[in-house]
Amino acid sequence: MKIILLKQKNIFVYTIILLICIFIYYNFFTKYINITKEVSNNLENRIDINNIYNQNGKIAYLTFDDGPTISVTPKILDILKKHNIKATFFVIGKKVKENPEIVKRTYNDGHFIGNHTYSHNNSILYKNSENFISEIEKTDLEIGKAIGIDNYHSNLFRFPNGFMSNIYKTEKENYVKILSNMGYSYIDWNALNKDSEKKYTNNQLLNNLKQSCKNKNILIVLMHDTKDVNDSSNVLDDSINYLKNQGYTFKNFY
Ligand SMILES: [Zn+2]
Repeated sequence: MKIILLKQKNIFVYTIILLICIFIYYNFFTKYINITKEVSNNLENRIDINNIYNQNGKIAYLTFDDGPTISVTPKILDILKKHNIKATFFVIGKKVKENPEIVKRTYNDGHFIGNHTYSHNNSILYKNSENFISEIEKTDLEIGKAIGIDNYHSNLFRFPNGFMSNIYKTEKENYVKILSNMGYSYIDWNALNKDSEKKYTNNQLLNNLKQSCKNKNILIVLMHDTKDVNDSSNVLDDSINYLKNQGYTFKNFY
């Protein structure tokens, strides 16, 4: 009788130990699996800027520079929302400071907020490397304040006038290394409606876009969300419908 009781007690203890082991094992591995899942998701979701034009399929990245502005940005956001399209906004830091609520809405709508310098003034930007660094840092600081994220790092930069233009070419080439050390990639565009030339009617803007998209599978479309140029928001709906009909899907840089 005593022996049977002892055996039963042992079985009970072993069962408890076994259950504890299963509990620890299960917790550790599910956590580990979740972490690896998260890491691989992030890697999959991250766009490799250097290989952006090597992707399969027809993809259009709509980008809007030089905002935010009260007069144009909300109108563009409404149109993008209607089409359920996520786009990219390369914002100017001092304008972010003036209109933080528009940047917050842009971010909350799921658009990518990229860095387009604080002043958009080449003579300040390229005066020395300190200015260049500060223009970028100040802009991310203002974006972070606007969207409520401390130490916001936008990761992606667009040079005023684009890297490819000949304006301040030498300076741009010199500062690329600094940019990369700061953890930023930069991106230009390969399609545009020429809104910054300020001389086109709405119809012409649309035709300019059609011309510049010809025979391209991957489009990075330059437009502006400011009234300092031709107002692209007037042709955005038609532009999106055209691109949809041509078989493009839309992405941003997240
Ligand atoms: Zn610009």
